[in-house]
Amino acid sequence: MLELTGIDRTYDDGHPVSALRKANLTLTEGEYVTVTGPSGSGKSTLLNVIGLLDRPDGGSYRVCGVETAGLGERVRVGIRGQLFGFVFQAFHLLAGRSTVENVELGMLYGRHARRTRRRLAVAALDRVGLGHRRHADPRTLSGGERQRVAIARAVAGRPRVLLCDEPTGNLDSATTATVLALLRELNTAGLTVVVVTHDERVAAEGDRGLRVVDGTVTEVVR
Ligand code: ADP
Repeated sequence: MLELTGIDRTYDDGHPVSALRKANLTLTEGEYVTVTGPSGSGKSTLLNVIGLLDRPDGGSYRVCGVETAGLGERVRVGIRGQLFGFVFQAFHLLAGRSTVENVELGMLYGRHARRTRRRLAVAALDRVGLGHRRHADPRTLSGGERQRVAIARAVAGRPRVLLCDEPTGNLDSATTATVLALLRELNTAGLTVVVVTHDERVAAEGDRGLRVVDGTVTEVVR
């Protein structure tokens, strides 16, 4: 489904930093992949390139057979909205809005009408076991619950790939377990899951392991 070939990404603010160097990666629909590697090795950049949040400077990135290199920003935003959901270490929930409103906001730029968005948001909260907290302010939720709301927001619009950058980085081990159980459940239901993590336990959850070192991707042999 996703095929990166010879991907380069160099940041340049003053002096050039090569974040990805000739990175190659093929992801098949339905996989559960975890990505590890030293800090600064290019993991987040890889995730951002995969999710069309960032543009590589070189190489080929095909999404469902379509080469994305030459696509304009509007088309990229459209593909991103349909295909990808994002979960980050910081939950990025808005205080003063209910959880269901937070989940709806994730679909604001998608293809769904307002009424459909509410229905999908409620269904997503049910899916993460927080339907009963739909009117709660995120400030009244625990860290694990907040991340589950963030996951509901990421999957409510029915993406095919969930991209998670250190999703358990702010959680203790008990709540990490609930988030991992949820990711596994979503994967079993067909969602492709990619998780960047420092945590060996989280890394071991994936069916396939990748390691990024100096901007290059290698398979972890298990
Ligand atoms: P990781 O996620 O493995 O910690 P990153 O992908 O965040 O690594 O970063 C890879 C390299 O690119 C690092 O050297 C980092 O400092 C650099 N980098 C990341 N984002 C930027 C940016 N926006 N501007 C400049 N350099 C960046």
